[in-house]
Amino acid sequence: MPAKKMNRMELLAELAGTLKGYRLKTAGNIGSGIASEAFTLLSAGISAYMVALALQGTLDESSNKLFILLAFSILGFAVFRYLESLLSHDVAFHILVDYRVKLYSAFEKICPDILLNSKSGQLSVTLMNDVEILEWFFGHTVGSIVATLAIVLGILGFLAWLHPLLSLVMIISMAVIFTIPFLLKGTADKQGLLNRYKLGDANSVTLEGLNGVKEILALNYKERYKQKNDAFMEQLTDSQVDYTKRQGKEGGLLLTAAGVAAIAINITAILLVLHGKLSLEWFAVVGTTIWLAFNPVLALCDKARSFGIIFASATRVSDILHAQPLVKDTGRDIPVAAIKPYIDFDHVSFRYKNAGQNAVSDVSFQIRAGELIAFVGESGAGKTTCTNLLMRLWDVSEGSIRIGGHDLRALSLHTVHSVISAVLQDVYMFNVSIMENIRLGNPAAADGQVIEAAKQAQAHTFICDFEDGYNTIAGERGAQLSGGQRQRIAIARAILTNAPILIFDEAVSNLDTKSEMEIQHTLRALAQKRTIVMVAHRLSTIAIADKLIVFENGQVVQTGTHEELISKDGCYRKLVASQLQKN
Ligand code: ADP
Repeated sequence: MPAKKMNRMELLAELAGTLKGYRLKTAGNIGSGIASEAFTLLSAGISAYMVALALQGTLDESSNKLFILLAFSILGFAVFRYLESLLSHDVAFHILVDYRVKLYSAFEKICPDILLNSKSGQLSVTLMNDVEILEWFFGHTVGSIVATLAIVLGILGFLAWLHPLLSLVMIISMAVIFTIPFLLKGTADKQGLLNRYKLGDANSVTLEGLNGVKEILALNYKERYKQKNDAFMEQLTDSQVDYTKRQGKEGGLLLTAAGVAAIAINITAILLVLHGKLSLEWFAVVGTTIWLAFNPVLALCDKARSFGIIFASATRVSDILHAQPLVKDTGRDIPVAAIKPYIDFDHVSFRYKNAGQNAVSDVSFQIRAGELIAFVGESGAGKTTCTNLLMRLWDVSEGSIRIGGHDLRALSLHTVHSVISAVLQDVYMFNVSIMENIRLGNPAAADGQVIEAAKQAQAHTFICDFEDGYNTIAGERGAQLSGGQRQRIAIARAILTNAPILIFDEAVSNLDTKSEMEIQHTLRALAQKRTIVMVAHRLSTIAIADKLIVFENGQVVQTGTHEELISKDGCYRKLVASQLQKN
């Protein structure tokens, strides 16, 4: 699915690329970072210089200038630290919003492939947490990398000005300090990625527990689910503890290296004083500020210790952003009115990714405009696969599907989804009012049109029975509505879209006989103006169809009306007999 794995430099380039739209603020952030660090060092340096003068008894009135400079540095430090924090977070939070929007549209493009191949917990971690982690990078890292490098160069210049030997010791120290995170980078990356995946796995199990709570209770799966949950949480904790241990070791190593470096520079400075190459005031400045000078360097290395997680998150985000959709949207837009709603399946074969055999093979049939067709067959026979191919969730492996004579691949996805609307078994209700849930079919529809669609879908009466009528909040996943009610709301949505082809995946278990009859009545009425393809799971539904297409083992084995097919000795008659037996 991902285009290719990126290395750290490529990831950095990609992350830095997102700053393009925020050049001015980023420059302000970096400038403020450099200024605030410089003012910190300046304040400490001036203080040390004045203390050294005082100790030598040479602090007199002419030193007032130093007091003013000190006050100015302290003020400068405060102002620029504030600006740095403000600008870095301003940029970071705007970029996070950009990322979230880009990620969601990338995610939509690669659906449903990504849904079938990833756990929902992993996806939610990427869509929410991984993006959040990038805030560290944009808010706390980008600016400080540049600011620290500038400060290091400034200090080197200052030390070289005092004495070249001091800058030489500083260069060697910096080389050692910066090498530590690079040496440990491999482990950091591995642990970071493992950590994100363990978090994703743990989220998946939690979501499974939430979504399947009814089954967990009904099947007495509680204890086993708890054990599974505990095992995943333990693995997550282990990987987090390992990550923190490594961070701790690395931190200790860095602090030790910085301490040794500061002592080495101090000893060099003392030797220079003893040899008359450095005055006492400047020794005081070096001795005091060198400890502070290592602070931004250590802070940067501290951030580098988190690069494992930052790059792991950036990799996961980038995997989704660069994933290639299986269905290429290269067809053209055609007005819906210009496409006649007849359908041709022409020698269609399709195999799911990684599947050993075709899900459907050499399937051919025609559906005329205005027909109500039922796909019939045992479970696994290929009915849903054909409706998914018709909606172009995947492209056929062989053959072609045409609507109104146009090959689906020659039409834009927008056109295909405007011509075909689907009512699926598991209807998703958004947590807004019923009115808004129906209006999703056509956001421009007026309240009157929504109500008219609900009437056609036989939903108006039960909606009016609710205390708040159309303003009733549907509840998460429509928990407050029965299966039949949800399906009728979904039908109302589909009616509002005005799509001339409607796919209806019949719910198996949710409908009582009354609801079922009402929905059948609705579909029959809708078929007067539309072409309807119905995946029939119950034989009782088939009664309303104009024609049946019978599937067996991924192939179409019979087509005809119920009367024609029942009179023949074939798959359909066996299917009816076996269902009657089950009932
Ligand atoms: P039906 O709708 O008639 O129950 P499907 O179209 O769902 O049948 O399934 C047809 C065949 O394709 C079955 O063998 C099923 O196991 C297989 N199949 C369905 N979905 C997938 C998938 N995502 N990956 C691999 N095989 C699949």
